[in-house]
Amino acid sequence: MPVRVRYAPSPTGHLHIAGARTALFDYLLARKSGGQFVIRFEDTDQARHLESGIRSQLDGLRWLGIEWDESVDIGGPYAPYRQTERLDLYRTFTERLLKQGDVYPCYCTESELEEEYKAQEARGETPHYSGKCRHLTEGEKQRFAAEGRVPCYRFRVPEGETISFDDHVRGTVEFESDGIADFVIVRPDGIPTYNYAAVIDDLTMKISHVIRGEEHLSNTPRQLLIYRALGADAPEFAHASLILNRDRKKMSKRDESIVQFVQQYQELGYLPEAVLNFVALLGWSPRSEEEIYSKDELIEQFGLDRLSKSPAIFDTEKLNWMSNHYMKNAEPQKVVELAIPHLQKAGLIPEQLDSSGKQWVAELVQLYQEQLTYAAEIVQLTPTFFREQVEFEEDAAAMLKEDYAPAVLGSFQRHLSEVEAEHPSAEEIKGLLKKVQNETGYKGKQLFMTVRAALTGQLHGRDLNETLHLLGKNKMAARLQAVLS
Ligand code: GLU
Repeated sequence: MPVRVRYAPSPTGHLHIAGARTALFDYLLARKSGGQFVIRFEDTDQARHLESGIRSQLDGLRWLGIEWDESVDIGGPYAPYRQTERLDLYRTFTERLLKQGDVYPCYCTESELEEEYKAQEARGETPHYSGKCRHLTEGEKQRFAAEGRVPCYRFRVPEGETISFDDHVRGTVEFESDGIADFVIVRPDGIPTYNYAAVIDDLTMKISHVIRGEEHLSNTPRQLLIYRALGADAPEFAHASLILNRDRKKMSKRDESIVQFVQQYQELGYLPEAVLNFVALLGWSPRSEEEIYSKDELIEQFGLDRLSKSPAIFDTEKLNWMSNHYMKNAEPQKVVELAIPHLQKAGLIPEQLDSSGKQWVAELVQLYQEQLTYAAEIVQLTPTFFREQVEFEEDAAAMLKEDYAPAVLGSFQRHLSEVEAEHPSAEEIKGLLKKVQNETGYKGKQLFMTVRAALTGQLHGRDLNETLHLLGKNKMAARLQAVLS
């Protein structure tokens, strides 16, 4: 059977990191085995912003470099790819299941069910549907209908059975059918529930492998019962382990220690290759020990056999280490393009850059490229280049009180005044510092740190010659004047 996998999000928001992981595993398996990757939307929850949710899911995947073969935007042989457009299909299957007796109408109202659940709880039982409408006669059904009750439809779960299946991650998994109450497959408004619609979709779209999060494990026996009632083979299942935060707690959507949505990474200026690499290793491990993998290498190495049973830990430090690795090795021009909008948004550089402005920004970003985890950091790393006055850190201010400081800075000031260019090259700056050394006899820390402290307010930073080249003559002159007077 050809490999066909699907990612089936409810498009109720942005692409979450856990969704991205499912989609990535799907994608990798499809590419590895020459199969197809389908994206379909479970959009039956009508209350939410579905259109923007769909767009946002697809945009996030596209940004990560995950491509699909069939979905709402490009169509495909099993269209439509959203559940609200497949209601007729579900209806056909429901009629068949009704006729077979696997499904029955249930006329209980919400409040009747509530009461029943409460009574069960009072007896110390876990609340569950009791099967009250399982054996209604035609007459009873007609009477309920005449009262104006609109039924939901429930699946008749067989009694006393063990439902078992082989999961690619968890091995043989068993559930007792007695622990499963007759569950709703179609609500009174005619909208199918997740467990039902997912089965009909997977079946009719000829899905061969279902990869999804572990939280769906307990849905699987219900889905298997539906396949069986339809006389169909179920797909293979792989339930990927949960993603936990560093405290080993299930990450909640409000957990601020983790950036959870793919769009946020995009907005911060992460490189998509880095995020993709990191997400791939959440609950899957390659054969080799390395941590850095391109998309092609991931495809080459991927297999369901190496999905891990134990939970994945979302380690932000590891993500940032990885991200910095990709940043350092990226095309400088690419990093410059990612960084410019952040400097513009912070109001540090103009919206329109002339060619010398562009050149200057490019050099600035490249000076810091090695240090970046994501492009937005450029704003916090470079304030000294944009301020009128220097803000001195404590140790830098202390250094300027040393008795040699005036001599070093005075000499630098005089030699600088002989320079014509606004941005003397790093080579020229090096020459200037050499002159100061020859003139004053100060060298090493006493020379370089003093100049750096006076001109940037800090004792440490990127290459001094490059830094001063970018700072420019005017700023340097003004800053020296301020320190010396
Ligand atoms: N809409 C479900 C989810 O987002 C899909 C689960 C499945 O893959 O079957 O979790």
